[in-house]
Amino acid sequence: MKRFGLNIWGDDNFIIENDTVNVNYASNPSLLQITQQIREKGYKGPLLLRFPHLIEKQIETLFKTFEKAKKAFGYQGNFHAVFPLKVNQFPNFIHALMEVSKPYDYGLEAGSKAELIIAMSKTPLGAPITVNGFKDKEMIALCFIAAKMGHNITVTIEGTGELKTIIEVNKEFNTKSETPVAPKIGVRIRLHSTGIGIWAKSGGYSSKFGLTSTELLEAYELLKKHALLDRLWMIHFHIGSQMGDIAPLKKALREAGNIYAELKRRGANALGAINIGGGLAVEYSQHAASQERNYSLDEFANDVVFLMQEIAKSKGVEEPDIFTESGRYIAASHSVLVAPVLELFSSEYNAKCLRLKEKNPPLIQELYDLYSTIKRKNAREYLHDALDHMESLLTLFDLGYIDLEDRSNTEILVNLIIKKAIALLKNEGTDELKKLQDRIQEKYLVNFSAFQSLPDFWGLGQHFPIMPLSHLDTKPTNPASIWDITCDSDGEIGFERDLPLYLHDIDLNKEEYFIGFFLTGAYQEVLGMKHNLFTHPTECVINFHEDGSYSIDNIIEAQNLMDVLDDLDYDTGIIDKALKYRIEESQLITPEEKRELLGKIYLYLSENSYLKTIQAISETSQGA
Ligand SMILES: *Cc1c(COP(=O)(O)O)cnc(C)c1O
Repeated sequence: MKRFGLNIWGDDNFIIENDTVNVNYASNPSLLQITQQIREKGYKGPLLLRFPHLIEKQIETLFKTFEKAKKAFGYQGNFHAVFPLKVNQFPNFIHALMEVSKPYDYGLEAGSKAELIIAMSKTPLGAPITVNGFKDKEMIALCFIAAKMGHNITVTIEGTGELKTIIEVNKEFNTKSETPVAPKIGVRIRLHSTGIGIWAKSGGYSSKFGLTSTELLEAYELLKKHALLDRLWMIHFHIGSQMGDIAPLKKALREAGNIYAELKRRGANALGAINIGGGLAVEYSQHAASQERNYSLDEFANDVVFLMQEIAKSKGVEEPDIFTESGRYIAASHSVLVAPVLELFSSEYNAKCLRLKEKNPPLIQELYDLYSTIKRKNAREYLHDALDHMESLLTLFDLGYIDLEDRSNTEILVNLIIKKAIALLKNEGTDELKKLQDRIQEKYLVNFSAFQSLPDFWGLGQHFPIMPLSHLDTKPTNPASIWDITCDSDGEIGFERDLPLYLHDIDLNKEEYFIGFFLTGAYQEVLGMKHNLFTHPTECVINFHEDGSYSIDNIIEAQNLMDVLDDLDYDTGIIDKALKYRIEESQLITPEEKRELLGKIYLYLSENSYLKTIQAISETSQGA
């Protein structure tokens, strides 16, 4: 993996300059510099950096690519897009999104009442709002209210029951009204074709959502009967997220296109749009061999435009407007999680930790000689000798012939020899060497929670690009696995022999080392769990200005301990009193100490759960 696969997943958003990874924009600041500036303000623990210019880039690219495709085919319909709120509802993201999307007619998609309220209050009048998912009467009433505010809102019917409610609400809102206003109506179709991948369940006959052909005909009759046919204007489908292959989309487009044309020919004159949902994939892979997407945005847009045009032509209907609801594609790249490494767990396998004696057992002396004289030419032979000696030495220990210090020296020396041999034989990449990497892998304890910040890694095995922010002028040699600070063994991103991650050998007593987790902007934040009560990390927005400079804005600090408990509905007043009472009543301490302890505990309560340092651990592991 060269340069952490930046050329595969990076989309030119970041560049490596000298020894750091830098934002490829304006004055190209390094992520390390930005991180240090935030930490100098006193914020510790993991940081979530948001980059609005990357949201802007995605929106601009989406619109430009579809405009290009439309032009190339002479397509008559318009292109529209909405952002599906479920992908990221956090205000620092949504406010930036609304700001950068101003030049476009970009709207929001809502799937719940709370999301609908965000859409109704944040979308500019005229920009589209689409409302999907299961709805009750209240939610449909909210859609009518939005329409009466002047919003360009489309409510998608997911089942016939919802249609009946729409008819009912329409009567309540409009019978007595002199100027009846109703939202536009969309229908979600139940596709015959299914999606693929781990998120495929959104399509297909057994999917949770959508109307069958029979239900569509029924809906058509109902709308006609209740004089709402002139509101039916959109056909909607969504085949699932992170669509790696373009083939299922083409099938779905043909199905949806033909349904559109059939309904239109039947008399649904107002019908004028196909909403192709989301699903546009993001390339998360750091390795050429495991790429997740087999198409480009150009191909995607050309396919959509071409197929819609083809169907419209052959059935003699107007070319529909095209809507997309891609969310992952818009949001994923905008944020980077930066987390400090707290500890390298096998730092004990260091030459400094050797306890060689005046006179060592002969095999240990030999191991030491192998270690001192290993070269590329003899590396394989020395490696085998070392492994052989280790077996013998461990047997000698079991039989009582060597002591614990000898055994420790054996472990250290063999580990060092394996490391050297692997480094020397790097280009050979044999199975034997790959297997040995598991043995010498370094565990990096990182100050973050995978459950909070990478829940899709935990739940679905989704890979996210990982790279250090510094030392990029030297080749990393440690096969690395990453441990988070939860007490859960699932909070580990293990070393994978076939998709290896290498990190640098760092002396954390001398310098800090930060890991960046990239493409975390879609789904991760709101799906994040407070497992072990680790909360959303401290976040901020990095805005670039016209003169190329940047500012660190809208910092929202990770919740403090009491706020976390308050969120769980603990009565924090009672907790506060209990702590105070127990200190004051303790028989073990003097009044002076009590005051001191009270001061300390209040300080700690005002801070977040993430670790500040783990000095205690580093001291013991150094044997000092
Ligand atoms: C989740 C969802 C989307 C967004 O999908 P992405 O894969 O993030 O683009 C779009 N439309 C609907 C109806 C959804 O449920």
